[in-house]
Amino acid sequence: MADTPNIPDIQAQESMWIEIIRHMEFFYAQLAEAQAEAERRAEELGQAKALADNIIASISEGLIALDAAGRITLVNGAAERLLDYPHGELPGLSLESLVPEDSRPAWTWRALRRRLLRQSPLPDEETVWRDRRGREIPVGVSGAALQGERGEAAGAVLVLRDLRETRRLQAQLIQAAKMSSLGRLAAGVAHELNNPLGGILLYADLLMEDTAPDDPRRRNVVRIAEQAVRCRDIVRGLLDFGRPAEPRAARVDVNAVLRNAMSILEGQEMFHNVAVHWSLADPAPCLSGDAGLLGQAFTNIILNAVEALEGTGALTIGSEPGPDGQGALVTIADTGRGMPPQDREHLFEPFFTTKEKGTGLGLSITYGIIERHNGTVEVVSEVGRGTTFRVTLLSMSPEGDDADG
Ligand code: ADP
Ligand code: MG
Repeated sequence: MADTPNIPDIQAQESMWIEIIRHMEFFYAQLAEAQAEAERRAEELGQAKALADNIIASISEGLIALDAAGRITLVNGAAERLLDYPHGELPGLSLESLVPEDSRPAWTWRALRRRLLRQSPLPDEETVWRDRRGREIPVGVSGAALQGERGEAAGAVLVLRDLRETRRLQAQLIQAAKMSSLGRLAAGVAHELNNPLGGILLYADLLMEDTAPDDPRRRNVVRIAEQAVRCRDIVRGLLDFGRPAEPRAARVDVNAVLRNAMSILEGQEMFHNVAVHWSLADPAPCLSGDAGLLGQAFTNIILNAVEALEGTGALTIGSEPGPDGQGALVTIADTGRGMPPQDREHLFEPFFTTKEKGTGLGLSITYGIIERHNGTVEVVSEVGRGTTFRVTLLSMSPEGDDADG
């Protein structure tokens, strides 16, 4: 009887299988649905990530994300450009490797994390970072703490603002303000000295006339006159700096001014072992200005350049059209002794000189002339390597913007 299956049993088994299959079908349908949902989510996630990447990449400010150990995990293109790193080389580096010693105490990861615990986001702070080659970059940095899913500290995100252009403009403004007050002071003093000096010269001449050629005192009188002439030249220089001689605007061919200045200078002995390289724009940049004054300005720069060569080296004189095709950009570069930053700061001040027989007036006069042509001058110098003057000239302002007596 064991081998005769009993009917109700078979029926029960059958319905159990049917039940199982029905469950399985249901289960598979749910699985397919879940899979479709997962695919949809993945696609959404992909789109959201692409959008986020796009936003991060297109922010003009530098963006740096740090993990909980202060290592860089993510940067955008602006940060790479600002810090001069090739694409992909920043992730993995520590925060400290972007910060020079001087900025360290505040910008180590420990210090930053501590500050972010107290305050997040951190307000923008101006500091100095360094790029891949160790050059210092002024930046504004703001930051916020990143939190993990359970609220734990998971790192930070920093936003970097490039302050180089701002700093350059600030320096230019300070320089312009300084020069204009120095100019006024110098012109005032020179004015006051001019009359008594004229008197000294006049009476020295009279005294000379009254002194017989073989009189032993005559030598002293000559000395007085010579020194007075030297004073008068200095005073003239000062007056030029404060108020360059009445300029006359005409169409000026900048190349011609440069060639002319050099043709007067190059006969001098100090030029004999100097290799002069020309790179003049063709056609020549032209502007409305005073050729005589501009010649004087370039002469001063060229003389300094050759003096810095101390005998031998290269002098490069170049011209090109100015920014936006307006005016001219003149570059005068030497491979001479260069100057330390502290000299660079005072370069254009009257009487600043490092030379035994210098007057320190050349560049202050040059500055005044460049200003009259609505120009700017930029100087890059490295001790032992040389100096480059980049003079941008526009056109001279119309008559009378400061044509007082
Ligand atoms: P001076 O030539 O009489 O000293 P300047 O006003 O022409 O006065 O120049 C001021 C100072 O600037 C110089 O004494 C020198 O120290 C520095 N200087 C100017 N041009 C250069 C240059 N090309 N290379 C190095 N130092 C320079
Ligand atoms: Mg000089």
